[in-house]
Amino acid sequence: MSEIPIATYFHIAIHTFVWKHNGMHTTESSQFIGTASPLPDEFRRNSVRKIIHVDMDMFYAAVEILDNPSLKNLPIVVGGSPTSRSVVCTASYAARKFGVRSAMACSVAQRLCPQAIFLPPRFERYQEISRKIREIFQRYTDKIEPLSLDEAYLDVTDSTLGLYASQIARHIKEDILRELGLTCSAGVGPNKLIAKIASDFKKPNGLVVVTPDQALEFMRPLTVRKIHGIGPATEARLAAVGIKTCADILAMSREELDQKLGRLGGWMWHAARGEDSRPVETHYDRKSFGREDTFEKDETDLGRIESRLKDLSESVCASMDKRGVKGRTITLKVKYFDFESITRSRTIKDMTVDPDIVMATAMDLLKTKTAVGQRPIRLIGVSLSHLDQTTPLILTQSRVESMSSTPSTSNS
Ligand SMILES: [Mg+2]
Repeated sequence: MSEIPIATYFHIAIHTFVWKHNGMHTTESSQFIGTASPLPDEFRRNSVRKIIHVDMDMFYAAVEILDNPSLKNLPIVVGGSPTSRSVVCTASYAARKFGVRSAMACSVAQRLCPQAIFLPPRFERYQEISRKIREIFQRYTDKIEPLSLDEAYLDVTDSTLGLYASQIARHIKEDILRELGLTCSAGVGPNKLIAKIASDFKKPNGLVVVTPDQALEFMRPLTVRKIHGIGPATEARLAAVGIKTCADILAMSREELDQKLGRLGGWMWHAARGEDSRPVETHYDRKSFGREDTFEKDETDLGRIESRLKDLSESVCASMDKRGVKGRTITLKVKYFDFESITRSRTIKDMTVDPDIVMATAMDLLKTKTAVGQRPIRLIGVSLSHLDQTTPLILTQSRVESMSSTPSTSNS
């Protein structure tokens, strides 16, 4: 094994360390675990968390190439037919060179890259491989939070394997390549925020380690869009107050941020510093999925409350859908202006992840079981519990159906 210096949280003066695989891999990972010297006690005593984010490289397209090697290096678009209204699930890197991106309409993808080969998604196959990837993760930790079929957070803080987090990430990359023939990118950091950005930093086949000491400097030059959860709408809102990068946030006082951004300011303040305390949540210790939101000022207007509830329902369902989880119990939470907080729940017959059903149920609870509209409220929330966790990685049928059922391999 060509030895590469391993960046650890306790080795000082290590720059953000990037390791690219170059297509080679070693085969001694299992021996390596057994022979590695135990970590010093202060490592385990330290409260700093070690989070790995693993993200498969162009996963659906990579699986298609795996099963049909003649597709290698060709511009592949996994999605519906270019003549349908469906969108791109995954584009191979060869297709991305033409500007093809995930979630883009397939018709647009074809215009950008006329020679693209359109392949129908085979979710069952992706799920099968996803389960094998999960089995590899489980060799190293059982604290796994899948974000989708090809992405997961791993918390290796309490690992007893005698390996640094960066070494575990490297073993996982090697195992996946050797056993499944696929590459992935991994980010290692003190929290989910940083690990996720780090895994995207040197795609494909990257390994980027960010130590707590490096967190601030790692974040500083990044555009806010790099922060998971910040989409185009928030990006525009931030740009309107002169924020494009984390450096822009670091230059502002907390008061200024709060004043300009309201509640978002607090989260941005921490994010720009690379701070994030969200735990890695495995499905089995997760009992519910929910979102809540505080109004800028106490609210009585039913229209505005309904619209907020709709956003929250959609957000909860999207988050569950991505993880392949459904729920049966819908809970509405209301906090009145005087801080009295109530919850009202209803359990429905079938498992759901449909935002319309969640919204309709929550609205019915709101109208029949609360004083919303008469008493001003300061906060509203919705959650789903009674979760179906038997098939955590199965994509919903609705998503499968949103793909074209008449896939083409057009090569016009
Ligand atoms: Mg991916």
